[in-house]
Amino acid sequence: MAILIDGKAVAAAIKDELKSFVEEKAKEGKHACLAVIQVGNDPASSVYVGNKKKACAYIGIGSESFELPGETTENELMELIDRLNADDKITGILVQLPLPRHIDPDKVIRRISPAKDVDGFHPMNVGALSIGEDCFVSCTPQGIMELLKRYDIETEGKECVVIGRSNIVGKPMAMLLLRGNGTVTVCHSKTRDLKEICKRADILVAAVGRPKMIDHEYVKPGAVVIDVGIHRMENSKLCGDVDFDDVMPLCSAITPVPGGVGPMTIAMLMKNCCKNL
Ligand code: NDP
Repeated sequence: MAILIDGKAVAAAIKDELKSFVEEKAKEGKHACLAVIQVGNDPASSVYVGNKKKACAYIGIGSESFELPGETTENELMELIDRLNADDKITGILVQLPLPRHIDPDKVIRRISPAKDVDGFHPMNVGALSIGEDCFVSCTPQGIMELLKRYDIETEGKECVVIGRSNIVGKPMAMLLLRGNGTVTVCHSKTRDLKEICKRADILVAAVGRPKMIDHEYVKPGAVVIDVGIHRMENSKLCGDVDFDDVMPLCSAITPVPGGVGPMTIAMLMKNCCKNL
């Protein structure tokens, strides 16, 4: 019977640990404050921003919210980022993606000071991750490493296969698994023999963005399966990139959707917000 990796419970425990940490730091007069910028009113983004602010409030991290109209120009957004970069009270800056089409997200990411880049998207942090230096690490893959650690799932010497090579999930995931001494293969839409490669994996991470694509044909018996995907189905329930019911009987441990990787992403954002306290 597969172990169900309970990201919700682990995330709750981490938030409580951070709450105590923040209380201790407050006694030394040290405070964290996250600036959250949203441009436009995409409903999904509003939910994510709301959840981040709620998590900050729970832990005791300050948050300042900037809800800008959809017509905000790139220059106006850059000016706000410059102001926040220079503001000592602000210790972290997050720009909620996606941005309206007239704003270049790469330019925006590069404008945030790497020292306040709590999403870990700035090229300086990405570069530091790849050469093994201390840095802000992208929250979702960092959360997956934390789940593996807390469930005593060893990465050293393991065959790790990551499906997906995005800058925010697939690539940093591969870097972290490599840092954990795994033998890492990264697959993408041009990969040939995907099923055969996935079937080699001791640890399979699906960050492919296709609902229920990964079924038993991709999974080696006894593998650990991590499902990053999140999709709303027609019946309004959520599902992942993994066909959970099909894969679960086969694997040794699996993350559910919802309640697996998702809650860890916010928990790691909060951890990043506390990093330099
Ligand atoms: P992207 O769309 O940026 O990347 C998807 C990757 O999957 C790409 O590298 C793509 O390859 C690859 N891919 C697509 N189709 C196939 C295929 N048929 N076979 C093999 N590889 C394929 O997605 P993200 O990395 O941003 O996100 C992945 C999933 O994770 C999404 O469902 C997203 O909603 C979810 N997500 C969840 C988070 C959470 O907190 N739980 C956080 C972030 C994302 P190529 O590069 O060649 O195009």
